[in-house]
Amino acid sequence: MSRLSTFYQSGRLAISFELFPPKTPKGEDSLYEHVEKLLEYSPDYVTCTYGAGGSTRDKTLEIVTRVKNRFGVPVASHLTLVGSTVDDLRAYLNRSKDQGVDFIVALRGDPPQGQSEFQQTAGGFQYANELVGLVKREFPEFGIVVAGYPETHREAVSPQADLESLKRKVEAGADIVITQLFYDNQDFFRFRDGCDKIGIRVPIIPGVLPITNLNQVQRITALCGARLPAQLIEQLSSRDNADWHFQVGVDWSIRQSRELIEKDCSGLHFYVLNQSPATLKILQAIGIDALRGAK
Ligand code: FAD
Repeated sequence: MSRLSTFYQSGRLAISFELFPPKTPKGEDSLYEHVEKLLEYSPDYVTCTYGAGGSTRDKTLEIVTRVKNRFGVPVASHLTLVGSTVDDLRAYLNRSKDQGVDFIVALRGDPPQGQSEFQQTAGGFQYANELVGLVKREFPEFGIVVAGYPETHREAVSPQADLESLKRKVEAGADIVITQLFYDNQDFFRFRDGCDKIGIRVPIIPGVLPITNLNQVQRITALCGARLPAQLIEQLSSRDNADWHFQVGVDWSIRQSRELIEKDCSGLHFYVLNQSPATLKILQAIGIDALRGAK
């Protein structure tokens, strides 16, 4: 069992937080202030996304390294295939290893802005399972996370084909699956059952994104294809007020998280969007301190 899998055991709730590289020095200062507050809850690890542009990629490694050195928490760097040859990927993995990164979130990546489809780079890979294979063969010290889609990946020909793609990533060496955000737990439970039926035996960890701002979440859900349930839209649109949107969004995530824990999820992954207030409220409401010891 890898170190990453050991976080996910029945009787304990693992938590992880996902950051993204800020675009400005001010954004970066604010990021570390929020991380400090989040870290009071001792997450099992913190991850940082990997963008399509060169400069944000260097930032990914810089952020995870700083978080690890400053707070002593395990870290994961996301890594995508976009615009990289296999040698580029190998070079990034070597740098990550030298910097003490613990885990890799191995992804294909979304097309860069202005492109509608993912394009394989000459000398690069086509699918995430190939990157998983590279990490497993050449960098066995890294734990490996892959992405799963409760509402099916938008390019997949069918839910079954998407599950088969996920199984290929697990067979190539992934230790756990973290899911795309979703707002209807039934989608997650259906997906988890599908994983079980097809023989995927690694932990399937739900990704939780509390809505704090209606416009922002509509942009994100449009990008990733996640559906906002009618009841949630109705509640959010009933008042044009930022505090109301925050409260409705956080309450929804609290209800989602409670049910996920009740139905045997051994971990929650929070898309914190470089902020802390919403996630802190959720952690307090679900009684995280008690859940960390005995579920
Ligand atoms: P893949 O697993 O390669 O799948 C891509 C598509 O191809 C799917 O439709 C799949 O069904 C299909 N497929 C896979 N293998 C095969 C095959 N052998 N034959 C035929 N079809 C196949 N994006 C970023 O750019 N940066 C990030 O940091 C980032 N972090 C993320 C973190 C999480 C937890 C999640 C859930 C997503 C993240 N994404 C990120 C988004 C992700 O890059 C996109 O969803 C992308 O479109 C697919 O990536 P993947 O790794 O799932 O691809």
